[in-house]
Amino acid sequence: MSDCTICTRPMAAELAHRTACPRCGSRLAAWLEEIPRQLAALADCLEPDGRGDGTGRSAGRAHAPLPVRLDVLTLIGPAAPHPVRDTSGDQAGPVPVAGVLHAWADRLAEDLGTYLPRMRTTSAAAYAAYLARHMAVIVTREWVAPLYEEVQETVRRLRAVTRTEPQRRPLEAPCPRCSAVGLVEVDWEVYRECTVCGLLLTADEYKEHAARLYRLGLGMVLAAAGQAADQDGAA
Ligand SMILES: [Zn+2]
Ligand SMILES: [Zn+2]
Repeated sequence: MSDCTICTRPMAAELAHRTACPRCGSRLAAWLEEIPRQLAALADCLEPDGRGDGTGRSAGRAHAPLPVRLDVLTLIGPAAPHPVRDTSGDQAGPVPVAGVLHAWADRLAEDLGTYLPRMRTTSAAAYAAYLARHMAVIVTREWVAPLYEEVQETVRRLRAVTRTEPQRRPLEAPCPRCSAVGLVEVDWEVYRECTVCGLLLTADEYKEHAARLYRLGLGMVLAAAGQAADQDGAA
């Protein structure tokens, strides 16, 4: 048995070839899918007043503001012509999203024994898609943990500007493992998670579980109604 290099939870023997558990892998995949959406939303935040809060408020100013937000420009800036090799984590200062993803896409290509494919657009979205296509390989690499950390930080920076946080909703059915009412679903996450025991369910598994409980509950209600009818008949 080996441990996930990201969350350090033990993984089942049949996952020994992996360096990231399915939960961490799916979270990383979800972030890689979210990044292009976030980058598209960033365009709305480029003007100093378009802060993405939708209120259109404009604070009175004593002096002319910068025409664009520098923090947003930094995020959407182009990747360096050669990837900034930051797989050792010693890069200082903010890096454009494309720069972060370019470095990891390059690392992946190297492990695959190829060159980075020529991308139609050398944009962050193209690098994110390239990484997402190779998740099965990424979750077996020893560098998955630093990649996970950088992608997490990138998503955090993007969400801070676009002010989009995934919403968390409690689910009705109790957990099939611990019976606590602690299952939640979070936007863009693959798994429904029990906040009490950590059980993960896919959307289909949850649906099946809830439907089974419903049938069980319905059966009990019908049986009780039948008993009541019998008693009425006997009276
Ligand atoms: Zn993990
Ligand atoms: Zn549970």
